[in-house]
Amino acid sequence: MKNAPHSRPEVRLSRRSLLVHGASLVGVLGATACKKGPSSCNDVSGLTPDQQNTRNTLGYSDTSDQPGKNCAKCAQFVAPPKEDACGGCKVLPGTVHPNGYCRAFTPKA
Ligand code: SF4
Repeated sequence: MKNAPHSRPEVRLSRRSLLVHGASLVGVLGATACKKGPSSCNDVSGLTPDQQNTRNTLGYSDTSDQPGKNCAKCAQFVAPPKEDACGGCKVLPGTVHPNGYCRAFTPKA
């Protein structure tokens, strides 16, 4: 189909297309809105060099790359008072993320 000069190209959106793309958008927005936990728990500015070194030695990361293992599932984890706050750890200095991980991971009994 040829467009007349100065006319907008015709955009055809089927009802099915709108439903599929609309559902995808709602899913993405819902996942973003439902994201739980703090954005980061890696602020080491209040720690001594030795404490920072301990974090590095244990390989702490805010995100676990070990399936089924993260701070929230670790016996050393100290849960935060609020869902969007960082937690603590009995062996790692500083704050930790519920989705974090380090080599001292110990599964809860
Ligand atoms: S020991 Fe490691 S995995 Fe366990 S809560 Fe502390 S930082 Fe997280």
